[in-house]
Amino acid sequence: MAVNRHQATHLDASAPLVLDTREVGRRPGTMRTVSRSVGAPSRTGLDLIAVLEGGELELDLRMESVVEGVLVSGTVTAEASGECSRCLEPLHQSVQVHLTELYAYPNSATVKTTEEDEVRRVQDDLIDLTEAVTEAIALELPLQPLCSEECAGLCAECGVRLAIAAPGHGHETIDPRWAALSAKFDGPSTENSTEDGALTSIEEK
Ligand SMILES: [Zn+2]
Ligand SMILES: [Zn+2]
Repeated sequence: MAVNRHQATHLDASAPLVLDTREVGRRPGTMRTVSRSVGAPSRTGLDLIAVLEGGELELDLRMESVVEGVLVSGTVTAEASGECSRCLEPLHQSVQVHLTELYAYPNSATVKTTEEDEVRRVQDDLIDLTEAVTEAIALELPLQPLCSEECAGLCAECGVRLAIAAPGHGHETIDPRWAALSAKFDGPSTENSTEDGALTSIEEK
């Protein structure tokens, strides 16, 4: 069983976010920069906004050999697409994440003293950045993306996007019963004088 499980997790050296650590070697202190553009292996992000599958991920990283493994640090930049959480218009925004991830060697003390899911690992001299990049992008993207901070959203009555609605867009929603009632009053001026009279009579007492 254990053997099968190990085989199932073999990394694909040609996968977009898999790096070959043999490029940097195992002498602590050596390092190598990785600057390349790859396609996102799958849709990466949140429900309302994400880097689409195949979307360009620009890697500007360095792999550094350390005693315990390979330290990967640097940035990943991409373009995310989604929709405004207020007005539902499509939007695009660039997203940049900073990574600092240790991938431990299989025979390192780090691996021997930690649970399998506690530390990322070098497997067959390869490291897979997919999980680290996916988590970092999801954390960086807004839960409630906006086309602009001032987005007025949609009219609650008719759903029109307020940014393209006529100025002062609104709906007269007078209940017919209130309309009938207000027709019984002569007008605001008469009403005011009645109130004044009432106030005066209270003060006189
Ligand atoms: Zn909007
Ligand atoms: Zn409306």
